[in-house]
Amino acid sequence: MFDPELKYCPKCNEEYMLTAEQCAECCLTLLTGTEMVNFHAGGRDARKGALSEDDDLVTVHKGAIADLKHIEGLCEQENIGTAIVSQSGGCGSG
Ligand SMILES: [Zn+2]
Repeated sequence: MFDPELKYCPKCNEEYMLTAEQCAECCLTLLTGTEMVNFHAGGRDARKGALSEDDDLVTVHKGAIADLKHIEGLCEQENIGTAIVSQSGGCGSG
């Protein structure tokens, strides 16, 4: 796997010394071996559960609030940020 004492290009996986900053081929910022492990793990461990403004929101389910709460719980187990939005207008029943 990846050596935490080395750096790697996230694109071409070329190995570099820790002192290197960029891949000479791709001009990408190098990641340490530890970061590469997280990168290839799908970023799940590094991912924050909370939503940010940069997140693309997708509608997963529409239905009764009890169902949505259940799905929200499942998503939280997977570190997926969720937002329950009421389409009936107003501020919701909070
Ligand atoms: Zn590269």
